[in-house]
Amino acid sequence: MAQDFILAGVMGWPIAQSRSPILHNYWIEKYKLNGRYVPLAVKPENLGDAIRGLRALGFRGCNLTMPHKQMAMTMVDRVTDTAKRVGAVNCIVVEPDGKMWGTNNDGNGWYLSLLEVAPSWKPSNGPVAILGAGGAARGLLVTLIENGAKEIRLINRTFEKAEKLAKDIDPSIVKPIAWDKRADVIGDVALLTNTTDQGFIGKPALDISLDRLPKQALVSDLIYTPPETAFLAAARARGNVTVNGLGMLLHQARPAFEAWFGVMPEITPDLRAAIMATFK
Ligand code: NAP
Repeated sequence: MAQDFILAGVMGWPIAQSRSPILHNYWIEKYKLNGRYVPLAVKPENLGDAIRGLRALGFRGCNLTMPHKQMAMTMVDRVTDTAKRVGAVNCIVVEPDGKMWGTNNDGNGWYLSLLEVAPSWKPSNGPVAILGAGGAARGLLVTLIENGAKEIRLINRTFEKAEKLAKDIDPSIVKPIAWDKRADVIGDVALLTNTTDQGFIGKPALDISLDRLPKQALVSDLIYTPPETAFLAAARARGNVTVNGLGMLLHQARPAFEAWFGVMPEITPDLRAAIMATFK
């Protein structure tokens, strides 16, 4: 009997910028599966109807992107502990009985992208510094703590947001730091990560001096357009190992693809090139 046609997609508003359809459809073709992953332009006021509609339309599930990740939390039957801690879901799975569960693979995807480049790196190696306290930072904090981080310095332009996020996640581990102290608090860190949008194409470069950063610190940027931000280039030039944000996008997608399509897909140089070619 022919295999069922498997449908999945990504809900966002706007959605045209999402590279997830290219990524998942690349894997569908590579593994000769019968299915399609589609972009779903869903306005925030229609999110509940759209998620309930997954069942009726026979979707196996979907990803969620801006601005739906938080709102979707209350629109599924169950959420994982990680999603609860993050307070957001980026992936919904529809079970054969129609029940839906949500999880959040963003933080773990980012962590795996670090390990790909530095396999022996551990969050317990030393203090960690995170620049930015927005939606993406939340997932990273939860993953770092789940994997043994003892001290995280959360540095944000709006100090109150760092304070609130630290309190929400774990104030015994996450310490809010004022933006003007950013260069002073990185002298002993094992990791420095940019989760602000500074350095993204069309935005100014991230403004930080790396003079005090230890050479053995790992440096990551969630941005991958451009593939190397001025921040990562400066870190690499002084000898730090650097990781851009493409691996995060690819690694968060793998467990979702497996849950919907039944195959754990591989990340290959060809796939990376296919994604980056869409930005040229
Ligand atoms: P967000 O919730 O809007 O947070 C933006 C952060 O940037 C806030 O902390 C904000 O500080 C800070 N910021 C904005 N302008 C700034 C400036 N001029 N100087 C210093 N800080 C500034 O965004 P998000 O969803 O967390 O996304 C953040 C970045 O991560 C984006 O570049 C996004 O593309 C990237 N990202 C990548 C992936 C991936 O798969 N690689 C996934 C998710 C996100 P305030 O609090 O002071 O406003």
